[in-house]
Amino acid sequence: MSIDLRISGGIVVTPSGPVAADLLVDDGRVAGIVGADVAAPADRTIDATGRLVLPGMVDVHVHTREPGYEHKDDILTTSQQAAAGGVTTMFGMPNLNPPTVDVTTLRDVFDRYTASSIVDWNHNPAPTKFDDIVPMAEMGICAYKIYMVVDTGRTYPHPAGTGIHDHGHLLQIMDRIATTGKRFIVHPHDQALMDYIEGEVLARGENTPQGYASAYAAREGVIWDTAIDVVLRLAEASGCPVHIAHIQTRRSIDAVRRAKAAGVDVTCEVNHWAPFLSTWHDVETLGPYALSYWVPDDNRAAVWEGMRDGTIDIASSDHAPHTREEKEIGWTEMWSAHTGTPGIQYYYELMLDAVNRGELTLERAVDMVARIPAEKFGLAGVKGSLEVGADADVVIADPAHEWTITNDDVLSKIGWTPYDGRTISARIERTLVRGREVYADGVVVGKPGDGKLAAARAEGPAAHAAVAAGSAAEGN
Ligand SMILES: [Zn+2]
Repeated sequence: MSIDLRISGGIVVTPSGPVAADLLVDDGRVAGIVGADVAAPADRTIDATGRLVLPGMVDVHVHTREPGYEHKDDILTTSQQAAAGGVTTMFGMPNLNPPTVDVTTLRDVFDRYTASSIVDWNHNPAPTKFDDIVPMAEMGICAYKIYMVVDTGRTYPHPAGTGIHDHGHLLQIMDRIATTGKRFIVHPHDQALMDYIEGEVLARGENTPQGYASAYAAREGVIWDTAIDVVLRLAEASGCPVHIAHIQTRRSIDAVRRAKAAGVDVTCEVNHWAPFLSTWHDVETLGPYALSYWVPDDNRAAVWEGMRDGTIDIASSDHAPHTREEKEIGWTEMWSAHTGTPGIQYYYELMLDAVNRGELTLERAVDMVARIPAEKFGLAGVKGSLEVGADADVVIADPAHEWTITNDDVLSKIGWTPYDGRTISARIERTLVRGREVYADGVVVGKPGDGKLAAARAEGPAAHAAVAAGSAAEGN
C-alpha cells in the first residue's frame, strides 16, 4: 500500500511550530508528519527542499461579487486568485444582488460555489430575516455578517437587508444567533456620528480621497470605537460570539484586549490594507485605489502590536475588487466611488514578507491566516492546520524569493492591485486543496467545482486513521 503524496525536505509549520519533516498526504488528508528516514511509499513526491510547507489560508472575509456584480469578479475568478495566493478556504460575504439573507438566496449562492469554486468555501449570510437564522445555520454556514451601516442614497456596497444599526434589533438577532453556536461578524460603524462628520467634510467641499480618508479616521476613529464598544457590550449581554471586521484604531484594539480578558467571546480581524496599505502617503499617491481606509501611524503601530500579542486574532483579506472606472471618479468625487481594495491574491505573501522583515514570527503569521480562523469559525481539526487527520490544504512557499508584484500578475477581472510595483521577499509556489494541486509554478491548475463546502466533520478529526509511521511532529 502506498500513500498518495509525500512532500519532502521542507520546513513543515505545524500547530506546535516549524519542524524539518516530510508531510504525508493520503485520501485528501494529512496522514503523517515524519522524518526523512521514515519509509512510506508514495505515488508522488514533491521536493520542498528549502521551502516552507504551510497550512492554506482560511480567509473568512471575501467579496466574490457573484451574484450581481460579476463585472468586478465572480466566484471562479476569486477562487483562482485564492489558489494563487495560498487561500484554500474562502468565506463569501452577503452584500450581493440579491443579498444573501435567507435560505433561498443562501442555497443559490451555495450552488454557485459548488459549480465554480476551485478552493473550498463557505458563505456568511446576513441574519436580517429572523426566521431564517436557524435554518441557515443548519445548512452548514460558519458565521453571519452584518454591517452597522445604513447608507443614505446608495444601494451599494451595503444593500438593503445587510445593514442593522438599531441596538435593540442587534441584540434580538444576537440572542437568536447565540442559540446556533455560530459567530457573528460585525462591520462596526456609528451611522449617526458618520452623518455628522461626513456632513462637515462635504460642506467644506472635500469630496476627495483625502477628505474621505480623514472623515473615517476623524476624532481618532470615533465612528469605529463607539460602534465596537456597543458590539462588545452586546456580545457580553447576549453570549453571542462576535467577530469584529476591519479593526484599525488604537482604542478599539485596547477595548477588544480588555473584553477578551473579561471573558467575552470576541475575535477580530486585520485586513490587508491596515498593515500594508493605509499610510497617508498611500492615500496621496493612490487616491481612491488605496481606500479602504486611512490608518494614521499611531493606529497602525497599535495594529502591529495587536497582531503580535494576539489581540488581533485573524488576518482576512476583505478582498473587495472594483473596476478602474468605479475608482477613477473618486479623485474628484470620492463619496461616489466604490470603496474597498482587492487583496486575496497577495495577503499571505505580504504576511510572509512581514515575517522576513521581523515584524511577526512565522508561527504568529500562520496562526493568523490559518489556524485561528479555522478554530474560531468551527473548522478546528479540519482546516487551517497541518496535523494528522486534517484536510491536506497545503501551501509551499519559497521564503527567500525576491519578486515584484505587478498588475500583469493580477487574476482578478479588474486587472489592478494597489501593490503594483511592490517588491516582497517570499513567494507561494504551490497550493493544494485536500491534497490536490490548484496552483503550481505560476499557473492555476484547479478546475471549477473542485472546491467543497468547508464544514465541521461529523465524525471528528481523529477518526481518520494515520497511515505509515503516523505522526512524528516532534521528530527531527
Ligand atoms: Zn468587507
